[in-house]
Amino acid sequence: MNDACLRRRPRYWEERLMPSYEVTFTGPTRREERIGKCPTCGKRVKRSRVFEKTVSPFNRNRDTGLPKTWVEVARDVDAEAEAWVANFEHWPCAESRT
Ligand SMILES: [Zn+2]
Repeated sequence: MNDACLRRRPRYWEERLMPSYEVTFTGPTRREERIGKCPTCGKRVKRSRVFEKTVSPFNRNRDTGLPKTWVEVARDVDAEAEAWVANFEHWPCAESRT
């Protein structure tokens, strides 16, 4: 047995367990914006965040067991975006308060 043989074998098993190809999933996104006031200094603050979920075989509907459709996932993204509570306090303001 030579070195090349020892090196090749684990790689063969790795490939069988974890295929080297990658599959990327996309999904609906939603950008949410909130305008408020910093509770400490009173200045106007704008916060934005992008919400995103993927449409994939792993994201399933709990009731039907089927992968969620784009529309179903978009509904989840909307719900998450609407439930978002932004923190309007500036970092320096939060630090000066403590
Ligand atoms: Zn502030």
